[in-house]
Amino acid sequence: MHYDYLIVGSGLFGATFAYRAKQAGKSCLVIDKRPHLGGNVYCENIEGINVHKYGAHIFHTNNKAVWDFVNSLVPFNRYTNCPVANYHGELYNLPFNMNTFAQLWGVRTPDEAKTKIEEQRAEALAALQGREPRNLEEQALCLVGKDIFYKLIKEYTEKQWGRDCKDLPAFIIKRLPVRFVFDNNYFNDAYQGIPIGGYNKLIAALLEGVEVKTECDFFKEYKDNWREIANQLIYTGPIDEYFDYKFGRLDWRTVSFQTRIEDTPNYQGNAVINYTSHDVPYTRVIEHKHFEMFGQSVYDCPKTVVSEEYSTEYQPGMEQFYPVNDARNNLLADQYRTLAAQEINVLFGGRLAEYKYYDMAPIIEKVLNLPL
Ligand SMILES: Cc1cc2nc3c(=O)[nH]c(=O)nc-3n(C[C@H](O)[C@H](O)[C@H](O)COP(=O)(O)OP(=O)(O)OC[C@H]3O[C@@H](n4cnc5c(N)ncnc54)[C@H](O)[C@@H]3O)c2cc1C
Repeated sequence: MHYDYLIVGSGLFGATFAYRAKQAGKSCLVIDKRPHLGGNVYCENIEGINVHKYGAHIFHTNNKAVWDFVNSLVPFNRYTNCPVANYHGELYNLPFNMNTFAQLWGVRTPDEAKTKIEEQRAEALAALQGREPRNLEEQALCLVGKDIFYKLIKEYTEKQWGRDCKDLPAFIIKRLPVRFVFDNNYFNDAYQGIPIGGYNKLIAALLEGVEVKTECDFFKEYKDNWREIANQLIYTGPIDEYFDYKFGRLDWRTVSFQTRIEDTPNYQGNAVINYTSHDVPYTRVIEHKHFEMFGQSVYDCPKTVVSEEYSTEYQPGMEQFYPVNDARNNLLADQYRTLAAQEINVLFGGRLAEYKYYDMAPIIEKVLNLPL
């Protein structure tokens, strides 16, 4: 069989591309080196709960065309991301909004909250004596003041980066949005939710009628001979690996997960709890059932699955999650992009091949707008 496209990677980029190709009457073979389809949105069903194996995934977008597209494949539920922070047992709503301010200071009106924040910002600005903030700690104190910073930002950020906030550059935090309304909805987008039945349903709908092969590594099986079986290659794997790391390896940041079953129907009452103090080694606990079970229906499922998330220094062989946007890696990525542009009949797409962080909706938008 000769295909129009060999698609390396069955994540959202590869699967959406395959869907469009199939609609256009083209033939494709999708391969993935993992034992399952779906890339990072894949969910493993444990105790009747869809567990987000590669980290919590919440679909959100302002793009109606993208929202209508995904809903035409699988209807999405009403999940709204409202994370909660736990600081030494004290609970605060996130993102920073009137609920958080009432919990922090007992304030009741936006004016009271603004006065409190302005007092603390003024204190931080005065301490700088007219100079610019020199590090993340000074920057954040000037933006939101000491209470929000010390209880909800400092130690959480230090766990994420593995470094003291005084040793992190100020530019990491440009803005720290505060809302003077009682609104715990994390995203500002018009649309958000989770596919009803989980992300695997979305991937299955995208790949319906498409030939797929899992546990198939492009570099072992097709790198040298793909032109014999396909006209074009859609490559969504790591760009440095494609070029055999000839300029060196790109760095990534990663997260590791410790997942366990708890013998209770409702462990923490929310999908996402951030642990913002150092005494807890993990950054967040995800309770997966809350992405798809709401209200009393949480109790229809007798057990629950929780994942602790640990920020971990990346080593080759680990999951490549977030690109590192420092000078070395930006330069390296540009060198690889120059080589990629010279490859004939090869499209490099998605987060690994572009070395760029994308949310799910922008990936879909990008593929929907590609010329076939
Ligand atoms: C921890 C985490 C949490 C996230 N949470 C959200 C969220 O809440 N909301 C949101 O919108 N987005 C979120 N994202 C982003 C989302 O995961 C990406 O937008 C999406 O996965 C990108 O799809 P992709 O196809 O580019 O990559 P991937 O999903 O990584 O797919 C690439 C595929 O290529 C395969 N592959 C690689 N090399 C080879 C090879 N040599 N041979 C064969 N196959 C190969 C891989 O196995 C993989 O399946 C999150 C990302 C991370 C890392």
